[in-house]
Amino acid sequence: IRCADAAMYSAKQSGRGQYRFFDPSLNLTDINEFSLEQSLVAALSERQFILHYQPQIRLDSMQVSGYEALVRWEHPQFGLLYPDRFISLAERSGFIVALGWEVIRLALEELKGWSAQGRSSRLAVNVSAIQLRQADFSERLLSELAQRGIEAWQFELEITETVVLDDEGMAVEHLERLRVAGLNISLDDFGRGYAGFAHLHSMPLNTLKIDRALIAPLSNSYDDNPIVSSTITLAKRLGLTVVAEGVETRDQLVYLKLAGCDIAQGYHFSRPMSAEQLYQYAPFTRTAEPVCG
Ligand code: C2E
Ligand code: CA
Ligand code: CA
Repeated sequence: IRCADAAMYSAKQSGRGQYRFFDPSLNLTDINEFSLEQSLVAALSERQFILHYQPQIRLDSMQVSGYEALVRWEHPQFGLLYPDRFISLAERSGFIVALGWEVIRLALEELKGWSAQGRSSRLAVNVSAIQLRQADFSERLLSELAQRGIEAWQFELEITETVVLDDEGMAVEHLERLRVAGLNISLDDFGRGYAGFAHLHSMPLNTLKIDRALIAPLSNSYDDNPIVSSTITLAKRLGLTVVAEGVETRDQLVYLKLAGCDIAQGYHFSRPMSAEQLYQYAPFTRTAEPVCG
């Protein structure tokens, strides 16, 4: 049956109305992927998706400015699965729409819990371009916020350039509407794929996140890195808040602070944490270690 599954999966990947005989070269990842796709739907009703939270630190005050929510799947057999194992599959199969609403629901429930404890904060979720193709996306999101008494400033959407590249007219409208309502809109992974300068002007954004591939080479805080420093300058001239992601070392942090970056996120401060770990980390009241300039 596993061999037949793999053959069927391979046929499905080639489009509609295809058939395939099993061939040993159809490797295990095809089989795994097929069974993963099958269990994604069950995982949703079994509530196996959870969020981890990674703090973002303001470099002027070294205080936590908010958190990014990152989805994980608590798989009953395979353990904790990271998004690289299932997000692109969910995007290909369209399951990302249902998963996206589950992530939003989990994030809003967490925010509500924080507020009840007097620890209001801002929480960002990652949103895939496919989610923004739903005609009722912005309306439904605003009503989900209102139902829980969550204020717009507490919620942020992280989007990527693909939103604009494959926009059929709806995505930018949703984002504009949400930004007017007071939500923060952040452009993720800037500098990873296409050069996005052309879109920066036309997108309704508040924040630019510099991809960790650009941050990783920053090793010595005294050497200039013209790409990173000019990206920061450009973003600030466009009136955007700048977040550096994947900050792993103190040298990177010092460089970014001197270059005028507003916020940093990465293992240097903290790995993404479960809700329980976050409660113990308690950065709501604690200040992170200051950086001298
Ligand atoms: P991303 O949005 O760029 O998220 C940041 C990723 O970098 C996270 O991986 C995080 O754990 C990792 N990271 C954070 N700090 C550091 C660091 O200092 N060094 C290094 N090397 N890595 C760091 P994660 O959680 O595995 O997420 C991977 C990607 O999956 C995310 O990349 C995002 O594109 C996607 N993703 C996560 N959650 C969701 C979701 O709810 N919906 C959608 N559509 N995509 C999601
Ligand atoms: Ca992100
Ligand atoms: Ca990113």
